[in-house]
Amino acid sequence: MAKLKRHWCDAVDAGPAASYLKPAMAILPIIVAPDPRLKLHAKPVTRVDSRVRRLMDDMLETMYEAPGIGLAAPQVGQALQLIVVDCAREGEPPQPLRIANPEILWASDELMTVSEGCLSLPEHYADVARPAAIKLRYLDAENEIRELDAKGLLATCIQHEMDHLEGVLFVDHISSLKRGIILRKLAKAKRQKSPVPA
Ligand code: ZN
Repeated sequence: MAKLKRHWCDAVDAGPAASYLKPAMAILPIIVAPDPRLKLHAKPVTRVDSRVRRLMDDMLETMYEAPGIGLAAPQVGQALQLIVVDCAREGEPPQPLRIANPEILWASDELMTVSEGCLSLPEHYADVARPAAIKLRYLDAENEIRELDAKGLLATCIQHEMDHLEGVLFVDHISSLKRGIILRKLAKAKRQKSPVPA
């Protein structure tokens, strides 16, 4: 999930390397819609081992670099149930979450509407209503089962990223008219970037 006014990573660049950024991390290419890889259903991981942890770390670095506040594995071409999020506000210390096999145990009846963006739909935003609070169960980076109560932007972000694991994009929550406009613009931008040889 992308957010316009998120620039604290500029501050990270200017200062000493943050402890959560390991030197071996890699920035992965982010898939932009429309793309069939964004419509796949992701598989759960059997366990969070060093390979999965490495992917989670790479996803975090890719997200921070974009910059965004959330990223799901299908967005970097891995059909696995992995998401990373960091909804710390500007000026706050980073709060990276590495989440595998997430499952929503409870969601509030109360909804919250947020203007959502997505790293796979760059420069497009739309209002999406989702439960304002959720209870989540997942596997953390140490393969431990964890539960998390999330509300506000964190709850929105987690639900947005979990949608990616089902092949759902935020534009699937809005009218087909608006969705069509956004996807056509993205398809056109793609064609202009990589022209087909005549
Ligand atoms: Zn997204």
